[in-house]
Amino acid sequence: GATIGILGGGQLGRMLAMAAARLGFHVHIYDPDPSAPAAEVARTATHAGYADAQALDAFASSVDVVTYEFENIPPAALDLIEARVPIRPNRRALATSRDRLAEKTFLHEVGLRTAPYAAVDDETDLAQALALIGTPSILKIRTLGYDGKGQARIMAPSDAGAALSAMGGRPAILEGFVHFEREVSVIAARGLDGSVAAYDPGENVHEGGILRTTTVPARLMHALRSDAVLAAAKILNALDYVGVMGVELFVTRQGLIVNEIAPRVHNSGHWTEAGCLVDQFEQHIRAVAGLPLGDGSRFADVVMENLIGHDVDRLPDLMREGARVHLYGKAEVREGRKMGHVNRLRR
Ligand code: ATP
Ligand code: MG
Ligand code: MG
Repeated sequence: GATIGILGGGQLGRMLAMAAARLGFHVHIYDPDPSAPAAEVARTATHAGYADAQALDAFASSVDVVTYEFENIPPAALDLIEARVPIRPNRRALATSRDRLAEKTFLHEVGLRTAPYAAVDDETDLAQALALIGTPSILKIRTLGYDGKGQARIMAPSDAGAALSAMGGRPAILEGFVHFEREVSVIAARGLDGSVAAYDPGENVHEGGILRTTTVPARLMHALRSDAVLAAAKILNALDYVGVMGVELFVTRQGLIVNEIAPRVHNSGHWTEAGCLVDQFEQHIRAVAGLPLGDGSRFADVVMENLIGHDVDRLPDLMREGARVHLYGKAEVREGRKMGHVNRLRR
């Protein structure tokens, strides 16, 4: 049978591997960490770094297609892999989404709205950006940030110095603060044949920068619901994208603003396990394997809750209350660490 290579062996890689196995594929996980959660559900795992040319070459030679669960893969590693097999979603999707500046520039090019933004490398840039954008605003590192890490709020110009030092000398972007009514996301897929399928938008609640819950259906006027789905389709088509993408949006009185895009399955799409015939993980594997996309229509109202750190201690209660449980098999419980999630039906 065909083998799917997955870069990254965290929980997303693990859920992709399980979906791939269900479709009869072999899975080869690449992750430096010997205790990567995905390794134990894959047929093969390589534990080597992204600078290990020999290991990357052997990995690429052993698979038919390569996909990934995170966007910060060193470009040199991708060059080595791409010399042997296709990478899906493509390099352009990765380059666009790994750098917040490239991402926002791209979104503007395709005619979508974002928060006002400016690149900030030093004090002078920040002063200029603040003069333009004002406060409140948020300074974010351009690459490698997740779960709200690498971000500093600037409530008043006097916060500028502290915010800049929080960036630790890394290139950053200043974003105007969006006074949103709520946050929603669209999980959408595009097949090798160019067909697009989107899941119903979910409503997201964050706590301390980390996704807490996703609820479907999102409270969203009909017109905005289609705007959200159309925005996602526009992005996928513009990138000639293959696979599943997560598009995070702010809902404001003036309409939708795109926050960020993730070229992969997305935490806010975990509800599809309980609410759709074909979930985001199977959809992604189908797309990258060149198979037809599946039926992603929603047949239930669902609340997905992340189990973060010691939330897992509540598991027996959650089970009694009728939750469907998905644990990631992480040995060590740490504060702020995503240990699993549950899906509950709303009746
Ligand atoms: P993720 O884990 O989703 O990748 P991240 O670290 O990339 O998160 P963002 O999504 O940019 O960070 O920001 C995290 C959260 O902070 C957002 O979901 C939103 O609640 C808030 N936020 C980010 N940017 C803005 C903004 N410009 N205006 C208002 N709130 C914002
Ligand atoms: Mg992000
Ligand atoms: Mg985000």
